[in-house]
Amino acid sequence: MNTFISLTRNFFQPSFFAWKFSFAIVMLAMGACSEKPDHENEIPLVVVTTTHLYDLVDSLAGERVQVLSLMGPGVDPHGYKPTSRDLSSLAKADLIVFHGLMLEGRMGHALEQADKKGIPSIAATSDIPQALLLSSSEEGTDGHDDPHVWFSPEIWSVCVNTVMNKLIELDPKSEAEFRENAQVTLRQLEEIKVWSLDQVRQIPPERRKLVTSHDAFRYLGKELGLEVIGLQGISTSIEAGLADRANLVDFIKKQNIPAIFVETSVNPAAMNEIAKESGVFIGGELFSDALGPPGESVIGPEGKSFDLDSWGGMMVHNVSTLVKGLGKKE
Ligand SMILES: [Zn+2]
Repeated sequence: MNTFISLTRNFFQPSFFAWKFSFAIVMLAMGACSEKPDHENEIPLVVVTTTHLYDLVDSLAGERVQVLSLMGPGVDPHGYKPTSRDLSSLAKADLIVFHGLMLEGRMGHALEQADKKGIPSIAATSDIPQALLLSSSEEGTDGHDDPHVWFSPEIWSVCVNTVMNKLIELDPKSEAEFRENAQVTLRQLEEIKVWSLDQVRQIPPERRKLVTSHDAFRYLGKELGLEVIGLQGISTSIEAGLADRANLVDFIKKQNIPAIFVETSVNPAAMNEIAKESGVFIGGELFSDALGPPGESVIGPEGKSFDLDSWGGMMVHNVSTLVKGLGKKE
């Protein structure tokens, strides 16, 4: 009661209004300050949708641009709805890099609005030859091209070049640096591809089966010779029915699969139940539609350390988790 009275009293005192007013001025000034330096230093702002694209732009452009990702680790892009803060970030962008292939299923309107305002944008997947895409005619694709192309080093390298060319258009004076960084990135894609193939060869052929929440790993499976079975289709937007779960339990038992896997950006509840019913264990968490958290790393080719919030760290973590879960040849 006393606190209420003193608060009410303070509220009506002129000094309270003065304090509130000066606080508002400070907040406004801070807001203005946080936007100003970008334009003063002429560092372009590149707004990206997913963590994969954040890593891609960051590794190509380094300090030459300021990168802002709308989605963070653990966020599912299929169902992601932009917030009002995202809309204002998009409106401030000098360039928008989105994934395309309908990955950002609920962002179409926001991206269209930015386009109408004349903000340059590019779908990182726009130059991928149709022949490389897992096509819509294949089973389990919900009628669309499979968007999870970052799992194919060959296709992701096409995206590296697409984004590099757009960055050169944005900041032509940094062309040499962008090209050099792209070469480093492409070399790393190749290095990790070779290492991943070597790792997966250690799993007995009959156990090279990846059972997980949604069908995000078909490109990885094709690349590494793994059979991939997802409980949901290529989008997480449709929940799997009970019949699908029963079929999957049957399949796991019949195939003698030792472990199944959950994903950091998909609710693990259904996979946990399936593991219990099939009598197998969860082999670990895979990064599917989002990279890992910042500040953590994993050891990959030649004992090198890779950050989990990078493409390399994501691949090394996933491949190591698969080999550990499915087991090596004796
Ligand atoms: Zn997905």
